[in-house]
Amino acid sequence: MNKLIFNFNSKDTKGIKYPKNVLGGKGANLSEMGRMGLPVPPGFTISTNVCELFFKNKKKLNSNIIQKIKAEIKVIEKNVKKKFGDLKNPLLLSVRSGARVSMPGMMDTILNLGLNDKTVKALSNKTLNGRFAKDSYRRFIQMYGNVVMGVESHLFEELIENYKLTKGVLLDTELDESDWDGLIGDFKNIVKDKTKKEFPQDVNDQLFGAISAVFLSWDSNRAKIYRKLNHIPSEWGTAVNVQSMVFGNMGNDCATGVVFTRNPSDGSNDIYGEYLINAQGEDVVAGTRTPQYITKKARTKAKAKNASMEESMPKTFEQLEKILKKLEKHYRDMQDVEFTVENNNLWILQTRSGKRTSKSAVKIAVDMVKEKLITKKDAILRIDPNSLDSLLHPTLDEKSKINVIAKGLPASPGAASGKVVFTSEEAERLNGMMQEAILVRIETSPEDIQGMHAAKGILTARGGMTSHAAVVARGMGRPCVSGSSEIDINYDKKIFKTAGTIVKEGDLITIDGSTGRIILGDVPTVKPEISGDFSKLMSWADKVRKLKVRTNSETPADTKIARDFGAEGIGLCRTEHMFFDEERILSVREMILSKTKEDRAKALEKLLPHQKRDFIEIFKIMSNLPVTVRLLDPPLHEFLPNSDKEISEIANIVGADIKEVRSRISELHEQNPMLGHRGCRLGISYPEIYEMQSRAIFESLVELKKRNIKAAIPEIMIPLVSTEAEIKIMKGLVQNIAKRVQDENKIKINFTVGTMIELPRAAIKARDIAKHAEFFSFGTNDLTQTTFGISRDDSGKFLNDYIDNKIFSIDPFISIDEGVKDLISIAVSEGKKQNKKIKLGICGEHGGDPKSISFCSKAGLNYVSCSPYRVPIARLASAQAELLNK
Ligand code: ADP
Ligand code: MG
Ligand code: MG
Repeated sequence: MNKLIFNFNSKDTKGIKYPKNVLGGKGANLSEMGRMGLPVPPGFTISTNVCELFFKNKKKLNSNIIQKIKAEIKVIEKNVKKKFGDLKNPLLLSVRSGARVSMPGMMDTILNLGLNDKTVKALSNKTLNGRFAKDSYRRFIQMYGNVVMGVESHLFEELIENYKLTKGVLLDTELDESDWDGLIGDFKNIVKDKTKKEFPQDVNDQLFGAISAVFLSWDSNRAKIYRKLNHIPSEWGTAVNVQSMVFGNMGNDCATGVVFTRNPSDGSNDIYGEYLINAQGEDVVAGTRTPQYITKKARTKAKAKNASMEESMPKTFEQLEKILKKLEKHYRDMQDVEFTVENNNLWILQTRSGKRTSKSAVKIAVDMVKEKLITKKDAILRIDPNSLDSLLHPTLDEKSKINVIAKGLPASPGAASGKVVFTSEEAERLNGMMQEAILVRIETSPEDIQGMHAAKGILTARGGMTSHAAVVARGMGRPCVSGSSEIDINYDKKIFKTAGTIVKEGDLITIDGSTGRIILGDVPTVKPEISGDFSKLMSWADKVRKLKVRTNSETPADTKIARDFGAEGIGLCRTEHMFFDEERILSVREMILSKTKEDRAKALEKLLPHQKRDFIEIFKIMSNLPVTVRLLDPPLHEFLPNSDKEISEIANIVGADIKEVRSRISELHEQNPMLGHRGCRLGISYPEIYEMQSRAIFESLVELKKRNIKAAIPEIMIPLVSTEAEIKIMKGLVQNIAKRVQDENKIKINFTVGTMIELPRAAIKARDIAKHAEFFSFGTNDLTQTTFGISRDDSGKFLNDYIDNKIFSIDPFISIDEGVKDLISIAVSEGKKQNKKIKLGICGEHGGDPKSISFCSKAGLNYVSCSPYRVPIARLASAQAELLNK
């Protein structure tokens, strides 16, 4: 435990339980490769515990640690038969940072440490390669000057660029020994000029300066910001690796490169990477020279001229290929490997699990099962369910040129192009003419549903990731960028402005809901391809999971998509969305504004065939599967007209004057509609509405039966119940209609009645409610709102403050909150006390969130329900929950 420094080749790293915590990712893998017998330059890791000691000791290394480091240097010296600071055969070192998790570009590395004005001559004499020695020294001054002494690196780069201009050459490789010699002098002058200090000549000062600088970089601003963004605790600290240098820049039998054991972009089982002859590590990524391909296959495919490593260094390539196989077998995952060739000798400098696209992640996991490298269980657990999102929506063709004019929140993934429209009517008009529209609104409201449906994508200036626009767009699978404060919308002038652009109605724009980019013009997209591998992975997940996965859907089109994505029924069919259609909204308004029960019945009569038509289609698609239909839920005023034109139109229909209609509208206005006259409260006040809806459901079943079509099994859901009496009355109403329809048609109807648990009282009194409910569906959107007393639509104003102050670790509308979980658990156990067989599910947005799904599995729910495009995500997450919760 108390060991602070570990040699790569020593056995004592083997017993460490969490090697990455102690050695950092890079260090852990270097010693693991050492133990595997791979060619790793000798070295040692200073553990993350030293980082903590360093900060406790006023940012200084204590003498005990300094002694230990010196002892380890002796071990390296013996091993490579060179001496640190020696004037004949000097040992050079690399000092490399390495935290537990990779923090790309955040931490620093210094190469060629141990060079000074004297050892550089020794290196030159020893290798008979003066150019190499000087090139190494200038690189060292650049890195050390920047990382340890704080000189901006562009100052060095500019000196090189200017020098090359004067000399009339393009490439660094065209500079010779004397050129570098001159530049070394200039570099040292810059260091002196900027820091008022000489460049250190003592190699021990260099070493301890570099180690301290790596520790200090843990505390740098950029590292802090990165940690905050990625939830990395600052206690972790970084390890430091000190390693003997190997040289890729000693001539044409030398090289350096980076290689993946498989193709990280498409997942094919071909090694893929780049290398540079006569170069040192950083050159490959720096982009000063164009790297060459590793394999001949990749080079030919890219029609590149310069020889691949396979062609130019066939023997070393063969050796590399073997090592890559061995590494992949050992780590049982695709690896990202850094290597260097010194005089035809291959050295491995780093390995780690390679980053990959979602597409290749799926292919690699499935292939590795076929290759018997991993089990099906491994494959299921290895894919981040959320990452599948990008496979399910069309995405921008990143190869095309784009002009980003503003950014917003990536609210609903996928990309869409179309003409800018500012109203839902205009979106519908264009849709009717088969034209594509992007609906641009300051924010959206339930009235915009049809327009959102008609549009290809939605852009809003206000509202967060859980705003109306975001939630509805995700549900519909429409790409959406929300809350873009960079756009300024003017409805009157029909324009929106960004920092540098004015966009008019009818102009073409593209939005990328996966990244939040708003782009001027049209950008080609690539369609999602649910490949064989994807469905294979899904079939494995299906075998494992116990939770059923349903979808939230109210249109035949979405239902079809969800069915194709594997939905096993509908968990939430919101009937009110069916009311917004242009043809029906008038009848809906007529119903709401009717003065008498009889008039209302007449209006409802007109709506009945429309509702029936919707149900018939949906019940056909979900044949033999359960479909939960929620009776009308939102407050009535959401359906009412706004404009004068609309108001006079409806006044005509109901035979009232405009004034009367207006006063009825203002009567319906509520201070707090979320807590107002809605849900089953409507059913209590206006039973005829729920009667019409029930009749529509039952008559569709009858019709399908008459046509000999196997229908879905409806589960009629009463919304916003909080008391036993409410559900009892509503159930009676539904059963009454069922009986009437059965008697009228002499056909037996199959259905159940249940409720949505979305109020704390309902959860707590679940035992009473379960007397009349055959199922509970947890409406966690409203349950979260009512548990916290927070309105989701208004939470955007303070949610960030709550997250910044660590009051919420995550938006409770995205992942279920602990308090809401407790309410669900109470409802489950109380409900089961009354009715052991009660069916339990979730239909809030949380039904598509992997973390929440894991809870649902533990809580003993029977199914989760989510938007069509999240169905595959939920299938995978359910399988993972099953495997991990065991
Ligand atoms: P990063 O984490 O940014 O990749 P590294 O510590 O891996 O930083 O090092 C940066 C570059 O230096 C890499 O290209 C690596 O291959 C090279 N490098 C590191 N150590 C050595 C060494 N001992 N000999 C030669 N090159 C090295
Ligand atoms: Mg590296
Ligand atoms: Mg609700």
